[in-house]
Amino acid sequence: MAPFDFRKNKSMTSPDSLKIPAELLPRDGRFGSGPSKIRPEQIDALVGDSATYLGTSHRQSTVRSKVGEVRDGLSSLFTLPDGYEVLLGNGGTTCFWDAATFHLIESQSQHLSFGEFSSKFASAAKEAPQIKDPVIISSEVGTHPYAVADDAVDLYALTHNETSTGVMMTIERPVGAKGIVAVDATSGAGGLLVDPRQFDCYYFAPQKSFSSDGGLWLALCSPAAIERIESLAASDRWTPAFFDLKIALDNSRLNQTYNTPALATIHLLASQIKWMNDNGGLEFSSGRSRTSAEILYTWAEASDFATPFVSNPADRSNVVGTIDFHDDVDANVVAKVLRANGVVDTDPYRKLGRNQLRVAMFPSIDSEDVASLCASINWIVGNL
Ligand SMILES: *Cc1c(COP(=O)(O)O)cnc(C)c1O
Repeated sequence: MAPFDFRKNKSMTSPDSLKIPAELLPRDGRFGSGPSKIRPEQIDALVGDSATYLGTSHRQSTVRSKVGEVRDGLSSLFTLPDGYEVLLGNGGTTCFWDAATFHLIESQSQHLSFGEFSSKFASAAKEAPQIKDPVIISSEVGTHPYAVADDAVDLYALTHNETSTGVMMTIERPVGAKGIVAVDATSGAGGLLVDPRQFDCYYFAPQKSFSSDGGLWLALCSPAAIERIESLAASDRWTPAFFDLKIALDNSRLNQTYNTPALATIHLLASQIKWMNDNGGLEFSSGRSRTSAEILYTWAEASDFATPFVSNPADRSNVVGTIDFHDDVDANVVAKVLRANGVVDTDPYRKLGRNQLRVAMFPSIDSEDVASLCASINWIVGNL
């Protein structure tokens, strides 16, 4: 990249009229952190099956075998040890947090809070009257805290990738901990490596690395998590059926959901899992994100107007990159020009309130497109 001095470049071009040269533009302009890019092959597969699959009963074999494909495919993708099971239900991750306050947290949870999403589960636990107030360990945005073994705690709530700040963390059981480890992997699952022996419940929704739509939750559960669900369901704790993980467990074992799921979402998800498994599994899918992240952060570090927001390179997410801009360059204007040119959803997370862009690098997103995005941003800043 040729260095240039953006401060001297004061031509009065209106941002909306800037037309990025076609040869610089990414081939696919979707960089949103969720819902995120869906590969055209997934759509084609859905269209191909539409006449026999869409609009058919979720209690019959056509749809149930698709749910079975999803459950088996996830077991392979994450090389789940014996006894681990894949649960699913409607309502997305936010619903799963509430379900967890009924059927995963026995008495008290410990939460690592380091951004919008991780703090939301902590709030849900704090508000739930059936359990004690949680222990919350926070750190500055752009970093992550560490879990600490505590005998009063029966569930450790970790977040694989904090989507609001672009911080990822290694999933490890806290040393000496007796409780179960539950991981919000909504944006990390499929794009980051994980050792299943380090978690008891790894839950996510399919609109991020799995390139499907929202509204569903999936949870990879260890025998300890299943035991927890069964014992809390057998206790006298009142639980609404929608948040009842024992009902979800029983339905999942039959390749069903408690109530009607979105069939297109399940189909798109199954295609994505198959694509990942057919190409080498989690090594393949996480490798694509890793390559994209290398491109993005290398560009930002070399740039004279951009810099990675997360200062510790080990914490910089491979799936969601956050890039701060120099005061002289308004990231919102850059995002606006990108959008006007068909490159969408690079806007920063609203509540973070920084002069920054946020770029999804989920496995479906081609690394060459991330390189093209960097080139396009250079061009915009040079022409503003
Ligand atoms: C997107 C996201 C959520 C919210 O998921 P929903 O399915 O919209 O409820 C929760 N946690 C993380 C880490 C996320 O990235």
